[in-house]
Amino acid sequence: MNAESLIVAPGSKVRLAEIDPASTGDVASRDEARPLIDENIERLTRLQYLLYADGRQSLLVVVQALDAGGKDGVIRRLFTGMNPQGVAVTAFKQPNNVELAHDFLWRAHLAAPAKGMVGVFNRSHYEDVLVVRVHELVPPEVWSQRFDLINDFEKTLAHGGTRVLKFFLHISPEEQLERFRDRLEDPMRRWKISDSDYTERDRWPQYAAAYEEALEKTSTAHAPWYVIPANRKWFRDLAISRIVVDTMDAMGLKLPPVKVDLNAIRARYHAEKLEEQAAGKSKRKKKSAEKAARNGAGTKHH
Ligand code: AMP
Ligand code: MG
Repeated sequence: MNAESLIVAPGSKVRLAEIDPASTGDVASRDEARPLIDENIERLTRLQYLLYADGRQSLLVVVQALDAGGKDGVIRRLFTGMNPQGVAVTAFKQPNNVELAHDFLWRAHLAAPAKGMVGVFNRSHYEDVLVVRVHELVPPEVWSQRFDLINDFEKTLAHGGTRVLKFFLHISPEEQLERFRDRLEDPMRRWKISDSDYTERDRWPQYAAAYEEALEKTSTAHAPWYVIPANRKWFRDLAISRIVVDTMDAMGLKLPPVKVDLNAIRARYHAEKLEEQAAGKSKRKKKSAEKAARNGAGTKHH
């Protein structure tokens, strides 16, 4: 699987209509993808352990998509192997009053991963050039300045040791409608249905245009965008897990040097062990003495 072909080259044009959402690259089937995904998830588990132990860098994974694009599925599937202590997932909803009283990047910066951590954004600061633009929540002269601000923000994160990866899950309108149907038919998924699903769907072309501009203007060397064909969930999971593994592999993560004098610690360990053994011996002695005494006492009664 050639993950590099999914990257949005910095400065390049993006035509979503020309990217097939049903593409599965050179992967023939779900059965072929399964073991590869499982292997990647295992590698992610180990890499996350290293990132945490290393403690000098962090990783931020941004997941964006239209409704039913599969954001929740990606997060559930790919980050399950990781230690919850080292992962912070943040879902970006409609801003609350406190968030609205700050600049649009404030809440994103607050949620950015600390050193050693993996941060996952389910939606993100990009909503401020997507839904905000499509719904005209701020005038064009405001949102249009945000691309540069986003690039500067992400550069700040990179400068601070955070690797930033951004995934746009690309599905077709037909696939979205099928997933809406699944939600209707499956009682376990009905809670996900929202009135806005269909009104947002009507604005597909406006969203596509907003995404295209965002992808073009904010895919950078320090924070690249990937367009992930996402009609097939298994291809989506394979592609993203692969890209995250490759990225973490290249971060030069290593276990930190041991901070103590191991020989001295070993000597202490052996001393403790000897003491414990001695204590165990005398405890056993005491116990058998007690037992003998009890038995002795017992015989007296007979
Ligand atoms: P969901 O991801 O389905 O739980 O929905 C979250 C909702 O919050 C979506 O409709 C988003 O478009 C909306 N949202 C997220 N960020 C913003 C924002 N900055 N301004 C307005 N709406 C937002
Ligand atoms: Mg939704």
